Amino acid sequence: MQFTIASKVAFEGVGLHSGKRAKMVVHPAEANFGIWFLRGDEKQRNSLIRASYINVVDKPLCTRLINEDGVSVSTVEHVMAALAGCGVQNAIVELDTEEVPILDGCAENFVKEILRVGLKTLEVKQLALEILETIEVKHNDAEVSLAPSESLEIEFEIDFDEKIIGKQFKSLNMANGAFVHELASSRTFCRQADITEMHSKGLALGGNYDNAIVFDKDVVLSPGGLRYRDEAVRHKMLDALGDLALAGMPIIGRFRGIRAGHQATHKLLTKLFSSSNYYRIIECSPAQLESLPGAGLDKAGSGVLRVSH
Ligand SMILES: [Zn+2]
Repeated sequence: MQFTIASKVAFEGVGLHSGKRAKMVVHPAEANFGIWFLRGDEKQRNSLIRASYINVVDKPLCTRLINEDGVSVSTVEHVMAALAGCGVQNAIVELDTEEVPILDGCAENFVKEILRVGLKTLEVKQLALEILETIEVKHNDAEVSLAPSESLEIEFEIDFDEKIIGKQFKSLNMANGAFVHELASSRTFCRQADITEMHSKGLALGGNYDNAIVFDKDVVLSPGGLRYRDEAVRHKMLDALGDLALAGMPIIGRFRGIRAGHQATHKLLTKLFSSSNYYRIIECSPAQLESLPGAGLDKAGSGVLRVSH
């Protein structure tokens, strides 16, 4: 079976990079539709953009999708992670501008709303991508790989000079609502020293201490400090799930990222789809359905987001 959301949910906020106000409505969709973005403000050109790795264009510090008419949507990774992590494979994400609102810098608000309205079951078999061979990509000093496994596992390692982050490593099996309980509330982060450079490039114009963890050497400037000691690596795993969802269906395999970001994960998906030796598309067995992200969550609605801090 597949899932969509039981009814539409709405969000409003600013875009992290554009600084523009954005209204976003996530609508239910039918089986085998997948996830598509809809630019409601685009009346002249094709306003639909499929959430696919094929449509990813290079943009630093976020994932941006563009269609053949040049209509784009930026910073899709957190809402993509929320949908994938809750087990929603079919939805239309409508926006009135070019960037998804950042809200508080993580996926928690998206997840809360999805669990509040609940999911609708679609009686059509769920497909998944089973990884058959280990593939690896190196991009600058980042490394990413996908390897065969029984379920989706995400493993991540980061290494920062600042002691407040330092070396962090975490590995999680994404079954049993692990994304919702362990990763969804971990926020994006940056160094105070990098903000001037980002602004000069037209990036992070909507960023502030309430929608990102900003740290200066070993001090967290954002009010309230960290939600987890290893919040940074958890956020990198959240981003990875959102970017992997651009495969168009759940992946059954083990993802490993070392110092990786959006571009490395995109290169990995491009390599994955370059040869059918690397994967096969399967109809999920009942056991495989139970191992997908979102399995084990209460889908009836009015669900409560339970996070372990
Ligand atoms: Zn992120």
